[in-house]
Amino acid sequence: MSAAQHESDEIAAIRQAVRALCEKFPGEYWRALDRERAYPTEFVEALTGAGFLAALIPEQYGGSGLSMGAAIAIMEEIQANGCNGAACHAQMYVMGTLLRHGSPEQKQKFLPSIARGELRLQAFGVTEPTSGTDTLNLRTTAVRDNDHYVVNGQKIWTSRVEHSDLMLLLARTTPREQAQKRTEGLSVFLVDMREARGKGLTIRPIRTMMNHATTEVFFDDLRVPAENLIGREGQGFHYILSGMNAERILIAAECIGDAKWFIGRASGYARERNVFGRPIGQNQGVQFPIARAYAQMRGAELMVHEAAGLYEAGRDCGAEANMAKLLAADASWAAADMCVQTHGGFGFAEEFDIERKFRETRLYQVAPISTNLILSYLAEHVLRLPRSY
Ligand SMILES: Cc1cc2nc3c(=O)[nH]c(=O)nc-3n(C[C@H](O)[C@H](O)[C@H](O)COP(=O)(O)OP(=O)(O)OC[C@H]3O[C@@H](n4cnc5c(N)ncnc54)[C@H](O)[C@@H]3O)c2cc1C
Repeated sequence: MSAAQHESDEIAAIRQAVRALCEKFPGEYWRALDRERAYPTEFVEALTGAGFLAALIPEQYGGSGLSMGAAIAIMEEIQANGCNGAACHAQMYVMGTLLRHGSPEQKQKFLPSIARGELRLQAFGVTEPTSGTDTLNLRTTAVRDNDHYVVNGQKIWTSRVEHSDLMLLLARTTPREQAQKRTEGLSVFLVDMREARGKGLTIRPIRTMMNHATTEVFFDDLRVPAENLIGREGQGFHYILSGMNAERILIAAECIGDAKWFIGRASGYARERNVFGRPIGQNQGVQFPIARAYAQMRGAELMVHEAAGLYEAGRDCGAEANMAKLLAADASWAAADMCVQTHGGFGFAEEFDIERKFRETRLYQVAPISTNLILSYLAEHVLRLPRSY
């Protein structure tokens, strides 16, 4: 029995509803978008309309108020049915920073519209070209000027920003040498891009190996109202960190969905493809990699459920969320490689969708956090080894 089979009737119904929605967006839909690197607007609108992207917004703000267990079921099903949740997954979790650290007025102003899908908050500007993984070294500054902050600098890999109304921005408000602690002096802002575009905000798309709507963003004296500062000035790094467990768990669930899709495709093909007068799946050389990928996926799936359970119980889940992301990303990548191999030449043919999903799932070894940094986290915080960076 898989971890998913222990779930409640409510979650089973959610899975069924997501599957039904995904059936309307078959491989041809994604292939056409992939060729043009175009955004899956209709798919995102359908998910929004069904309330799935508001899963984690409490009912008091008009959201679905669902559990993390339900949210991971949604993300997993999207991927397991051949669709690509990366186009909109951040709409589920970026609002968590606002929910946890925003003022009552900010929450009232933004969350109900986000829950209704009228406002999109699915862009997250943290990474910069010069600092990369070393977030505390970021250079974008926000300097207070009366009732505004003036923002200058650059972000990179800011995904979905062209398809978002709001962006969560991390910028330095106190010079590094003047900050009391290494982790202080950064602040989080909600940038309203409907007002900012052309007035100090420039977006430049980056074409990537998969269809991901990612960009570079330039800030040139962009004025952001001081009322858009979230929480206390200088505490932004802590606020961003507090949202990372949810992000890791949800993306790990996507990887599980991808792994299931690859394993399903590979098993189906291995049963039906006849070479040397018998199904290729009759050969152990073909069976074993599929069976291994399945076992690897199931192990990772348990960790995803463990992390989600701790998260729901309000307990510390840093190690489990990181391990879930690590194991699930490894499982999806191993399954992707196995699936190409099982299909032989046809694994490379566009119409089989395998090469597209293969390119898409490769990302999760690098983003939203790269594998090495998870290993460093475990080494330092769980195994108490010396800090390596
Ligand atoms: C398609 C895509 C979408 C993304 N979307 C977003 C987004 O929406 N918002 C956002 O803010 N960011 C986003 N990112 C950024 C992503 O989350 C990574 O954090 C970022 O790419 C890492 O920075 P870098 O590429 O400069 O790598 P670098 O920091 O230069 O690292 C390069 C390599 O070195 C390794 N490395 C670096 N330092 C160490 C160390 N101390 N120990 C061991 N290994 C180390 C890394 O693991 C990596 O493999 C996205 C990235 C991609 C590719």
